[in-house]
Amino acid sequence: MSMLAQETVTRVEDQTLAPVAPRTAVRSDHLPQRDGLRSATFHFATRPRILTVVSTHRLSADLMRVRFRADDDFADFPSISPDEHLKLFFDTDEDGEPVLPTIVDGRYSIRGLTHRDFTIRWFDDRTRLLDIDFVLHTHGVAGHWALGAAPGDRLGSLGPRSTYLVKSTFDWYVLAADETALPALARWAETLPAGTRATAYIEVTSADSQISLPTRADLTVHWLHRGEAQPGSTTLLADAVMEHDFSDPNGYVWAAGEAMSIKSLRCFLTFRTRLGRDNWTVDGYWRRGEAAFDRTMHGRYCPQCATPAP
Ligand SMILES: Cc1cc2nc3c(=O)[nH]c(=O)nc-3n(C[C@H](O)[C@H](O)[C@H](O)COP(=O)(O)OP(=O)(O)OC[C@H]3O[C@@H](n4cnc5c(N)ncnc54)[C@H](O)[C@@H]3O)c2cc1C
Repeated sequence: MSMLAQETVTRVEDQTLAPVAPRTAVRSDHLPQRDGLRSATFHFATRPRILTVVSTHRLSADLMRVRFRADDDFADFPSISPDEHLKLFFDTDEDGEPVLPTIVDGRYSIRGLTHRDFTIRWFDDRTRLLDIDFVLHTHGVAGHWALGAAPGDRLGSLGPRSTYLVKSTFDWYVLAADETALPALARWAETLPAGTRATAYIEVTSADSQISLPTRADLTVHWLHRGEAQPGSTTLLADAVMEHDFSDPNGYVWAAGEAMSIKSLRCFLTFRTRLGRDNWTVDGYWRRGEAAFDRTMHGRYCPQCATPAP
């Protein structure tokens, strides 16, 4: 049985910020490729890195935080927008070492490699540590890998290649996510300026799947419990966002999660609200029944930064 579970307001007085050291929202060494009043697009030179598991920490019934140490430093690594992500590579060679992308025609090619996208929850360039929060499930290579991750395990990584920054110029923010987008939503909460009006709608299995969301913003969190229903099979998240009051048009909606269950939001936000196209992002992070769903694959382009499929 699913239900609108509870409403909580988390303020910085109750919780210490995670990570412990707050980071600057925009690092000055990256110049935007396109810079607007409300958003900016950045592209980065990237190179593959090997990541070694240092520790694992169970955040909730569904989420495992894996802390990695990078062999290489994080020079040219960005910390610009909350949904920055990288590709993790799961193939190994005969010696058990991760297989990394190689340069083909002047660019790193990922063709033929087993890769999945994951949000960079946090990184520290001084210690070369990087956290990724994995949803635990038994259906795919990444979910399986996270279930058994142990110190010393190694993965390849590539990215981030580009990022889309939504500026803090809006009067309010609506954030909507399932478990896969909860790490990015947590970064949103962490980086929204003090006092910003924000509402989060988050679909998870149950109260055991909830995590704390430290913030300086004036954030109201609605946890939506899907209960026995399969992940990605409900309309809970989209329905909750559609109930939100959008009468003030100077706001931003960020929604991410299972592609088909949030698809209806694009039409809703376009035709049923006064929001413009620069006021929302609806991003499919995975698709029920489809392995390796990736918004940039199959000849597609990233809807935000227009990076072409590899
Ligand atoms: C920009 C971006 C950022 C992302 N950040 C994160 C993140 O920080 N943490 C995270 O956990 N995921 C994140 N994801 C989603 C993740 O990439 C997908 O869930 C991916 O499919 C997982 O790979 P897999 O090998 O486990 O499953 P796949 O091999 O891709 O899929 C196998 C089967 O498992 C199903 N499946 C995939 N994911 C799930 C799931 N979460 N629950 C239930 N069934 C599933 C598929 O529908 C398919 O039927 C992100 C995706 C994008 C595009």
